[in-house]
Amino acid sequence: MKLILASKNAHKAMEMQAILGDGVELITQDKTIAKDIDVVEDGLTFEENAIKKALTIMKETGLPTIADDSGLCVDALDGRPGIYTARFAGDNATDDENISKLISELEGVKDDARTARFVCVIAVAIPNREVTTYRGECEGRILTQRQGKNGFGYDPIFFVPEHGKSMAELSADVKNSISHRFKALKKLKESL
Ligand code: IMP
Repeated sequence: MKLILASKNAHKAMEMQAILGDGVELITQDKTIAKDIDVVEDGLTFEENAIKKALTIMKETGLPTIADDSGLCVDALDGRPGIYTARFAGDNATDDENISKLISELEGVKDDARTARFVCVIAVAIPNREVTTYRGECEGRILTQRQGKNGFGYDPIFFVPEHGKSMAELSADVKNSISHRFKALKKLKESL
């Protein structure tokens, strides 16, 4: 089965394809007539943003489309950055700038109060059907400094207690068996 992925993030696309396996062929937005569309993420929840992205690209291409909206919710920051995770250090901020801002906002916060979770919501838009969403979460703690080189985004400062390592120290296979994206995609796969 072919699904359009409403995203221009190559890392995310790679992870999602690896998790979905051979039964699903993900075609990224940049390989479709919707390649120049930049959906403004102005929703107030992960669900609203994922639905908007999936519907916009499905309407443009006329093809079944999935979109992911994800982010990091930190308890000591009352759930921030949440839906603003990609722009935490400002519009067009790099992963490195976002990580530095989070480390500095959590300065002085003790280990056991640094709990956080990655959240992923996948929306599925199929022509002439109701949009559906699937949510996955992955619990961890925010480190005081970067560890590891794998993955992307905030992985170097996200500590995964079960493995005693940061997300960026895990292999792609291990990350893809515990991540928020894996959990959301597993629910989606079960529904297909
Ligand atoms: P989105 O692309 O608008 O959904 O923004 C997601 C934000 O959360 C970006 O800053 C990503 O780097 C971050 N993020 C999402 N998933 C992950 C992950 O698996 N590891 C690290 N950072 C992530």
